Amino acid sequence: MSYQREHYQRSRYNYNNYSSAGTQRASRAPRSRVPRNRISKKVLVVVAILVVAAVIWLQAPWKNFGFPQPLEPFAGQAAGQTAGHTTGQPAEQAAGQAATSGQPTLQTQAPLDTSFFTAVINTADVTDTQFLALVNRDHAINTLADPDLVNAIDTVPILNSSVFLHPKTFAATESLLQAAQVANITNLCVSSGWRSYEAQERLYAEATDKSLVQKPNHSEHQTGLAADIVVAHLTQKEMARSHEAKWLAENSWKYGLVVRYAKDKKDITHIASEPWHFRYVGKLHAWYCWSNNLCLEEYLELLQETGGYHATFEGTSYTVVYEEPENGKLRVPPGTNYIVSSDNMGGYIVSSWE
Ligand SMILES: [Zn+2]
Repeated sequence: MSYQREHYQRSRYNYNNYSSAGTQRASRAPRSRVPRNRISKKVLVVVAILVVAAVIWLQAPWKNFGFPQPLEPFAGQAAGQTAGHTTGQPAEQAAGQAATSGQPTLQTQAPLDTSFFTAVINTADVTDTQFLALVNRDHAINTLADPDLVNAIDTVPILNSSVFLHPKTFAATESLLQAAQVANITNLCVSSGWRSYEAQERLYAEATDKSLVQKPNHSEHQTGLAADIVVAHLTQKEMARSHEAKWLAENSWKYGLVVRYAKDKKDITHIASEPWHFRYVGKLHAWYCWSNNLCLEEYLELLQETGGYHATFEGTSYTVVYEEPENGKLRVPPGTNYIVSSDNMGGYIVSSWE
């Protein structure tokens, strides 16, 4: 008997069994002898207990942000700012250690206080990291600057003759693949990084399945911030089911990368599931997205709606603030402990630490 047939018959059997048992129970159920007012009292007591339990649960501190996980904050600063400080080792090694140490280290606090944002900067003078710039079907890269790029050849396994990546994406990918090796996953390689407008145009024209490819000027690959990390010798469908893809999805945030096109976010991203496509956003933001199951579109919307959040990580306090420029100016903290990314929608996210 085939597995399906046996399974089907078992299911039917169980279903029928259940149905008849249910009927029997229903037909045999004795008439209640408990007076009505006593039933309603019992119901009231049960409801009251449930309400109290729900209130306690909702107010519990661990409900704020799910389950704090070990991580470094912004990879943008990690090399010199946090990983280097706390471990005295190169960022890549520190990132690997952060991924395996088991201490919950990040908690967020409310409400958001931005009174220390006392300095003002012209948006024209902002060094825009573009780490949180939204590039998708509805937002083209037109306003974004050309990215810095490094050649990943000979450094990480690549499928093609050369792969260019933004330096941060490159470092994150390298660290992620090193951690994969430690986890006995040795068959990952980078199949695509930065693409020129022409390359994206060609790819889109040639693609038989347009649900997996953005139009030219709408692809994150043109920013250099995206990397396709695939499992060698597996088809796309096979990779989607592989334990390697699962490992990548669970660990990539530790290096500042997010799985950009998750299966359950297709309605928002308008791209089908791509377990191989990773986008660099920085570690704090990647952590936030991962632990709250947000795609980049949702995260940016949340920042815009709430104004941002505070987060404490390994003894360092971070403040992430969404701002719309007023008269071409942004409010920032005094000093240099902040980075700015445009969201490519007219807003800016200022990520600061102290
Ligand atoms: Zn991709």
